[in-house]
Amino acid sequence: MNLPVFLDYNSTTPIDERVLQEMLPYFSQKFGNASSRSHAFGWEAEAAVDLARKRTAQLIHAEPDEIIFTSGATEAINLALKGAFESYRGKGNRIITVSTEHKAVLDTCKHLEQTGAAITYLGVDREGLINLNELKKSFTDKTILVCIMAANNETGVLQPIPQIASITHEHGAIMMSDTSQACGKINVDVNDGVDLLCMSAHKIYGPKGVGALYVRRKNPRVYLIAQMHGGGHEKNLRSGTLNVPGIVGMGKACELSEKEMWDDAARLSPLRTRLEQLLCDLQMVYINGSIRNRLPNTTNLSFEGIDGNELIRELKDVAVATGSACTSALPEPSHVLSAMGLSKQLAQSSVRFSLGRYTTKEEIDFAVERVTKAVIKLRS
Ligand SMILES: *Cc1c(COP(=O)(O)O)cnc(C)c1O
Repeated sequence: MNLPVFLDYNSTTPIDERVLQEMLPYFSQKFGNASSRSHAFGWEAEAAVDLARKRTAQLIHAEPDEIIFTSGATEAINLALKGAFESYRGKGNRIITVSTEHKAVLDTCKHLEQTGAAITYLGVDREGLINLNELKKSFTDKTILVCIMAANNETGVLQPIPQIASITHEHGAIMMSDTSQACGKINVDVNDGVDLLCMSAHKIYGPKGVGALYVRRKNPRVYLIAQMHGGGHEKNLRSGTLNVPGIVGMGKACELSEKEMWDDAARLSPLRTRLEQLLCDLQMVYINGSIRNRLPNTTNLSFEGIDGNELIRELKDVAVATGSACTSALPEPSHVLSAMGLSKQLAQSSVRFSLGRYTTKEEIDFAVERVTKAVIKLRS
């Protein structure tokens, strides 16, 4: 067993060796520019990107020409929200989202508010779920877009995306979903009605700095205004020389996830349960988020009476997260747990454990032992 034990797979994942092997030639021998049409170097790179586009599309049951490669989910979210807002502004300026979204969505919405958007932030219940009746009541004839994540990065809670999409379409708006955490862990299918969807390679054992935006091309076709100009790459939606090795890696990561996600889930879900049960034996430990509607790899636990950051400092050989990794530099309690109605104290006593492809039972037992020791020490 390698120490420290990594139980923070929702923040990022190591690259799968099979992904790395497929990427390596595209850094050196196969270095062509995918838009060079005049020679074999370009054709070779283009063919590799085509294959990656097909594999990426397949993971979400889309068509290859509906995939726009970006530098990650954050960029895909920026393109989707800003691009749709600018494109549909003539129709209206209202966007509906949820207070538990990732900062990439919330900060982009905050920016759009300064340029004339009116954003409705839906609340969630104690389980982290939105209320569909509240969603229905939030539409006006100026609502152009609904943006609701499939799986929450902090709690793993799953929103009912097919129902949300059909409500959205009944009201004539477009549905965007941040599926960065759902892709590769559970089935994500654009036929459930999402019109825009983002994904990130480094959450599914691919490289950092590459992701994709799915843009629906029919029933209905979605139109976006580009946010990056210069050369017209990616159907004019994302100019700039393609990151060929990164894209190749993303394609391979998607192919592997599609094949292995059910086996991964079947193996990780009992390990997650074991972790939860053994830690709940400590008493005054609470699971945050819906037990029924949750990713198989994530658990977010509150240890009453203990500060989460102090607990993490005690856990030298276990890598876990408080709140979300992106905001862990700030001492603020998690915005997700606060929105779920947890007190500041309980929110600050929480720790996220996220398991992944290389997690073993031995590692879980080691983590349980270390956490148990630390909790007993800090409580006494
Ligand atoms: C990681 C993550 C992002 C950001 O993805 P990057 O590719 O790192 O930009 C956005 N949303 C969610 C839910 C995430 O987990």
